[in-house]
Amino acid sequence: MTRIAVLPCDGAGKEVVPEAIKVLRAAGADFEFQEYDVNADQYMRTGEPIPPSTWTELQLADSILFGAVGDPRVNDSAYLAGVLLRLRFELDLYVNLRPARLYDDRLSPLRREDRRAIDLLIVRENTEGLYVGMGGRFKAGTEDEVAIQEDLNTHLGVTRIIDYAFGAARREVVMVDKSNAMTHAGALWQERWKAVAKRHPEVKTRHLYVDAAAMQLVRDPTQFEVIVTGNLFGDILSDLTAELIGGMGIAPSGNVNPETKRGLFEPVHGTAPDIAGKGIVNPIGAILSASMMVRHLGHTEMAGAIEGAVRSAIRDGECTRDLGGALSTSEVGDAVVRRLRD
Ligand code: ATP
Repeated sequence: MTRIAVLPCDGAGKEVVPEAIKVLRAAGADFEFQEYDVNADQYMRTGEPIPPSTWTELQLADSILFGAVGDPRVNDSAYLAGVLLRLRFELDLYVNLRPARLYDDRLSPLRREDRRAIDLLIVRENTEGLYVGMGGRFKAGTEDEVAIQEDLNTHLGVTRIIDYAFGAARREVVMVDKSNAMTHAGALWQERWKAVAKRHPEVKTRHLYVDAAAMQLVRDPTQFEVIVTGNLFGDILSDLTAELIGGMGIAPSGNVNPETKRGLFEPVHGTAPDIAGKGIVNPIGAILSASMMVRHLGHTEMAGAIEGAVRSAIRDGECTRDLGGALSTSEVGDAVVRRLRD
């Protein structure tokens, strides 16, 4: 039996994850879902972002379905680091997959119709870079303060993420960095990029600096198939690509380790405190993350069926207000479920 650990966490996460599970069940996923009490209330009660007994079980799960983490009452970076970053780092989920596919023309902010066949994948390095938390503050809070945030890049880490990107591409991989300004890390990325590219002569390659990549993504996103980049740039560019396909409510993501097959799947959006709790958050990002999860677990047809049902619901206007519809969060889940049953 496939065991899925469910971590809805906080805010919008609590509303969208149940819809994703509803859709998985309707799609025929015969999984055991085990939900865990990992959230801001629990953290404020115990001081543990993830209780040790829960951590043990999370390590054993086949996959993790995740909502979003964060709470205005917890103004403490230790909470985010202790939940999401810990899972990514300690389970070594080094590939962050952030696909962007436009499901309906009307969701594109781009005026030109020939720029709307958007179907790209950002492969973001997920365990290194500027997110490792190395550095510190010296003379904090004084006018003499010095703050250092280290950008960590390793031969192994850079090689394996670039390798993964080539495996995911049929046509072309674009590597994005800022090696003209960040020369040390950039040199390592450039060297590994060229070395790995040699092993994949069948795939075309292109390099862009991150500023040029941002510009090209808005100018014509249809030119991209696979983009590989570091942790920070991947985070930023994938918010941009989310907007190109309809906004934060619709963008899915997966954090995976291709060797251990472990994975954590979550919508790109956060807890959306401005709209959480009103029944209006869009569950599509979470539902599409669940479809990425079943694809990762080998259920390709099921993933395709979920994506088809989502596409049909969006095209019929059966969606939340951020996509121009009038349905509630759970009504969107129901609309997808109905299409899976038809
Ligand atoms: P956090 O601090 O948890 O990251 P945030 O509000 O800074 O929260 P997001 O949750 O990613 O960041 O939200 C950014 C914007 O996108 C918000 O204005 C929110 O209303 C909108 N948004 C996010 N998620 C959804 C969703 N599921 N459906 C509709 N709109 C959403």
